[in-house]
Amino acid sequence: MSQSIFIIGHKSPDLDSVAAAIAYADLKNKLENTSKYAPRVAGEINRETKYALEKFGFNAPEILANAASENLILVDHNEAIQSSDGIAEAKILEIIDHHKVDFKYAEPIKVLIEPWGASCSIIFNEFKKNNIAFDKNLAGLMLSAVLVDTVITKSPTCTEIDKTIIEELSRIAEIDDWKNFGMEIFKVRASVSELTAEQIIKSDFKDFNYKSGKVGIGQVETVDLNDFGAREDELMKALVDLKNKEGYQGVILFITDIIQEGSKFFVAIDDLEKMEEALGAKLENGKVYIPGIISRKKQVLPKFSEVFDK
Ligand code: MG
Ligand code: MG
Ligand code: MG
Repeated sequence: MSQSIFIIGHKSPDLDSVAAAIAYADLKNKLENTSKYAPRVAGEINRETKYALEKFGFNAPEILANAASENLILVDHNEAIQSSDGIAEAKILEIIDHHKVDFKYAEPIKVLIEPWGASCSIIFNEFKKNNIAFDKNLAGLMLSAVLVDTVITKSPTCTEIDKTIIEELSRIAEIDDWKNFGMEIFKVRASVSELTAEQIIKSDFKDFNYKSGKVGIGQVETVDLNDFGAREDELMKALVDLKNKEGYQGVILFITDIIQEGSKFFVAIDDLEKMEEALGAKLENGKVYIPGIISRKKQVLPKFSEVFDK
């Protein structure tokens, strides 16, 4: 067994989960004057993550496909169903997160959860609390993550603290116009023409365990919903395939138009009525556009718990 302590985010890693792992490893190594903390990822990284890593000169962390018998710090998630396989046999030392809590562990450990817009915001605050100076490139990477997670401050998950942190990170990263920089990242995120339908669905995808069964929810944020217009049938088919192949009660993809500030939902599920209750909207051929919805965590999941945990 290696002596390293791996810092790792959720499966279908997004930019925040990868940047948080890199940043927290850096902070822990500096605080303890060691090099034993290393970032890892729980799967293939997505395009905007690749883009941000390259832009600020970072290598993609290695994939940790099986976490059994490793020492871990979890960032950007706490639910075992979202962790690397083998998590039940891993030693978990700490958690840093900004999601709802569904975590059980046999020992007391350090858990730091804030209802803020990004894990990187919490880690930024840890750097400040400990008076550890910031590298310009790390600031740029973390800024990218906070901008993606808060949808350039438009998401209801974005707090005043996040807004202050965005300003501070931009200053350190020497990025004058963070709004413009945020749009640049979302354009990379939205350019999906060469991705397969399943890759689109899985690019930001999370599993949730409900009393009525396992539900998978993917989200894609775009600057123009029409970009997906020609691929709707293909996406629906991929959702059905995924549901049948991996034993889901339901699989959902929602594509969020960050300019219009609304989302189009694509649903493959047996119990359509329950789904309509959870969405508060009628589906037509498994699809519906709902204005005003941009956050999975704050606007979609609470209603899902209500309906599927009944
Ligand atoms: Mg995340
Ligand atoms: Mg996050
Ligand atoms: Mg997100």
